[in-house]
Amino acid sequence: MNPIERLTDLFEKFPGIGPRQARRFVQFLLSENPGFRGDLSEAIKHLGIETAQCTSCMRWYAKGSQQNGLCSICGNPSRDKSMLFIVEKDADIDNVEHSGFRGLYFVLGGTIPLASEEPERHIRLRELLKRVEADAAKLQLNELILGLSATTEGDHTRLIIQEKLLPISEGLNFKITSLGRGLSTGSELEYADPDTIASALSSRQ
Ligand SMILES: [Zn+2]
Repeated sequence: MNPIERLTDLFEKFPGIGPRQARRFVQFLLSENPGFRGDLSEAIKHLGIETAQCTSCMRWYAKGSQQNGLCSICGNPSRDKSMLFIVEKDADIDNVEHSGFRGLYFVLGGTIPLASEEPERHIRLRELLKRVEADAAKLQLNELILGLSATTEGDHTRLIIQEKLLPISEGLNFKITSLGRGLSTGSELEYADPDTIASALSSRQ
């Protein structure tokens, strides 16, 4: 395959990128100087070497000085372990942080499509259940907050998680809440402003 087609195909795998945009990226790279292309390929190479996935919340972080397999949030002893905020993706955490939340997180890694027969294939459901059972057994967990997008797929995912967690929450004595009013229909946490998230958090139910 010729190098232009090869790179176009790779860009097309990015979320939300179609063939036309993929070609524009390649054209842009061709028009840039070789130094820029070198920097880009170096940065991509190091992304794999210098990052790790947090064993507790599952988000990706730059390793830096963290050596215990935990990201800077999960490894911070002053965080409030009684609250666990469930989000769809890594980017949601940055936004919730700006709203002033100081509990802990778990990243699902997506949502469950409406027609799916196997929810485990789309989100980290098994990992979530394991994490919640461990936290609740240590009496650290008081409340689990479901911070899913106000979309049809987000609602669907929330219902499935609630159904799976309910027996555990009753047995281990923690409550399950969802973000309240404030997040408008169709909105994703990633794009909501911190004030909106703060108000949705304070009106959770
Ligand atoms: Zn973490």
